[in-house]
This record gives sequence, structure tokens and C-alpha cells, in this order.
Amino acid sequence: MKLTVLGKSPAWQDAGGACSGYLVEDGDTAVVVDCGNGVFSKLRMFRDYVDIDAVVLSHLHADHMLDLVPFSYALTYAPRQQPVAVDGWPGTDEPARPELHAPPGARDTFRRLTGTWGPEDLIENAFRLREYDEADELEIGSVRVAFQAVPHFVDTYAMRFTTTNGGGRLVYGADCSPTEALTRFATDSDLMLVEATLPRPERTGDRGHLTPREAGEHGRAAHVGRLVLTHISDELDTDWAREEASEAFEGPVEVAKEGAVYEV
Ligand SMILES: [Zn+2]
Ligand SMILES: [Zn+2]
Repeated sequence: MKLTVLGKSPAWQDAGGACSGYLVEDGDTAVVVDCGNGVFSKLRMFRDYVDIDAVVLSHLHADHMLDLVPFSYALTYAPRQQPVAVDGWPGTDEPARPELHAPPGARDTFRRLTGTWGPEDLIENAFRLREYDEADELEIGSVRVAFQAVPHFVDTYAMRFTTTNGGGRLVYGADCSPTEALTRFATDSDLMLVEATLPRPERTGDRGHLTPREAGEHGRAAHVGRLVLTHISDELDTDWAREEASEAFEGPVEVAKEGAVYEV
């Protein structure tokens, strides 16, 4: 299984960057995990969007799903998606319509979002939308996806990826405050992709994210093989973040960079 970082910014993009988005590939199977602002453009640098089997969303914050809008426009209006020949494209009877697995309530959220300026069914027409339950286990080609609810400001789900071809276990923590739910879910995984958003814990006391040190503590508690810190702004010092995480976690720690590829 191959993980490519498409975007790793928190709610505001790095210079030239994208918000949360990752490409998980195994053989012919391609899954986009979260689709925040800027991710669709980054995806096109690595894989043709009509070859994506599924998009899976961890939660419905803007920085994890806004680029479903341009993705939907591409699937709806791109010349090669049309039933008749257009501008050199031959036309197709089978336009790409990837699966879209999203948390409960997603259909209403998408309708409110795109209904503010246009058709409220833009996203659900472009994708095969299905709202998942935490207990579901998705089968997307050779990739299997399991979910774990984690504490955040809205309903949010960490994901565990495995494949039917052997290989390793990848856990993506989504956005979350400190929680044993994530360490239990990630136990003994080969790679944990974990958010490290904060330079220090929230001053309000209302927790929703992790510091790099807390990310490291979660990696240690879960006995994971290696740790990749993500959801971290280019306005924070990456060396500092890596050192903080390494204070708690003895294994390899990296800070996610766009375009970085990890074999799991
Ligand atoms: Zn986020
Ligand atoms: Zn969030």
C-alpha cells in the first residue's frame, strides 16, 4: 500500500499548499482520503481523477472536504465525461462516478453547501454518495477501511487501512483531541498519520487538536512502527515539531510534506 501526501495544511493553506488530503493506492485501487481546499489540483499531479475508486472523508470541516466541489464539477462537465464526442474526446457511456464515503449527515451538509449558489445535488450526482456508520468496514478494490470515532468539534472518524494483498497497517487519526480511542485503534500499526496542529494546547481548555508532543505520546502508547505528523502549518517550525514528538516517541518521526510517499 502506498500513501502519498496531497495536502497537509490545517484550516488555512501553506504557501502553495493544500489542506488535508491523502492518496492511498494498492495495485489498481486508488482512494482519496479527505479532500480539503487545494487537494483536487494536487491530486491531478499524481493520479487521473477519473481513475479514483473512492473518496473517504473523516469529517465535514471545510479543510477536509471543500475540494469535493471542483472534483464534482470535473466529473460533471469535463469533456471526456460527456456521452458525445467533445473536443477530441470520444464520448463515453460510462463516465467516472467514484464512491464517496462520508460521515452521517453528509448529504444534508453537501446540499446546504452547494445550494447556496447552485444545484444542491451537485456532489451527490457526481459521486456515489454513501454515509457510513462507525461499525462499517469498507471494501474498495483491495483496500479495507475501518473507522473509529475520535473527539473533535464535529463527528469525526479515524481510519485504519489494510489490504487483501498482505502488506501493512496504516492509521490516519483525522483531527482529534488527546484520546485513548485513537491509541487503542492504532495499536501496532506500521504507520500512524497523526495531526500535530497546535504550538501549545488550546487556551480555552476546550480541546480539539493535538500538539506535536501529544502526537508522539499517542504513537508511543499505540506502539506504532513510525509516525508522520500532519495537519501542521508552514508557520510552525518543523524541526521543533519533530523534536517534540521524538521526546515521546522513540521510533522514526517525520513531518508530512506534500508529495511525500510512504510504503506501508
Ligand atoms: Zn482540519
Ligand atoms: Zn476538523
